[in-house]
Amino acid sequence: MSAPLRLRLDGAALTDNWRTLGAMSGRAACGAAIKADGYGLGASEVVRRLAAAGCRDFFVATWGEAEALAPSGVSLAVLHGVREDDLPAALSGIARPVLNTAFQVVRWKAAGGGACDVMVDTGMNRLGVSVGEITAGLLNGLTINTLMSHLASADEDVALNEAQRSAFAALAGRTGAKRMSLANSAGIALGAAYAFDLTRPGIALYGGVQRPAFERRIRQVVTPEAQILQRRCVPAGGVVGYNATWTAPAPTEVAILNLGYADGYWRGFSNKGVARAGDRALPVIGRVSMDLTAIDVTAAPELTEGDWVTIDYALPEASAISGMSQYELLTGMGRRYDRVWS
Ligand SMILES: *Cc1c(COP(=O)(O)O)cnc(C)c1O
Repeated sequence: MSAPLRLRLDGAALTDNWRTLGAMSGRAACGAAIKADGYGLGASEVVRRLAAAGCRDFFVATWGEAEALAPSGVSLAVLHGVREDDLPAALSGIARPVLNTAFQVVRWKAAGGGACDVMVDTGMNRLGVSVGEITAGLLNGLTINTLMSHLASADEDVALNEAQRSAFAALAGRTGAKRMSLANSAGIALGAAYAFDLTRPGIALYGGVQRPAFERRIRQVVTPEAQILQRRCVPAGGVVGYNATWTAPAPTEVAILNLGYADGYWRGFSNKGVARAGDRALPVIGRVSMDLTAIDVTAAPELTEGDWVTIDYALPEASAISGMSQYELLTGMGRRYDRVWS
């Protein structure tokens, strides 16, 4: 049975974006962050397509996410490291843990774990061991594949970027790590000095544009489409939706879509979002509800129950309209869509 809403996923745009980010990464290898089910697109399809394009390094958040993908034949790293509960999965070798804390390092050594990655905190104060712990010898005896750090503000031009870069660069040759990795998507746009050996883009693979360098180069990957559940004419003065936030200025043709904030079509799109039939814009009217959204279809007299419309979802614009981040727009999309790749 098909769902009344679907995500059109553009596989060529996904792999083009990865190649673009790879080219911008210079001599560094380009990996892919696929946590949160591939930012909502579906991690296994993302991995399959990027692996076919040549991507070799993939990053998930948890061991559950790693297990869902294994055996995928690609290199997986688990960004949240190892808890005691994770040891069986971690020791099975399906992925490398990214060790974040002194406890995790001790746990991994005691378990006789093999190759691992290590996250060092260079100023974000989120995850990672400290530079001081490293110089005190915490990592001695580990077999480290990739030493990584994470940029707090790569989407802004602030002094913190260079402070983090230079703190990280100072660790070169100090840990025995085979590779060093710092840049997320926005970090790639900061230039070659940020690329080190491996970059870790996520959002830009999926169409996120956070820096001018990505404009017109990063392509939209995700486009929601929703089916019309009912069409009606609202007379002048009639209201639409919860709390009657929209009043018809004149008789208005209205279609109700199978799409709502439970599908990540957030309330910020109320009275602001746009659907399309061909090139005709069909504005959202009234408040987005959990499962339903109303649009003005006066411009599309042929549309009827069961027809499909496309939702404007270019991430920078949709983010500006809705007040949600480009990340939230992707990861909130939920389970009710049919995901249809082309
Ligand atoms: C999520 C994440 C990335 C990818 O970040 P984007 O901003 O989506 O490119 C890279 N590295 C780490 C450690 C992450 O958690």
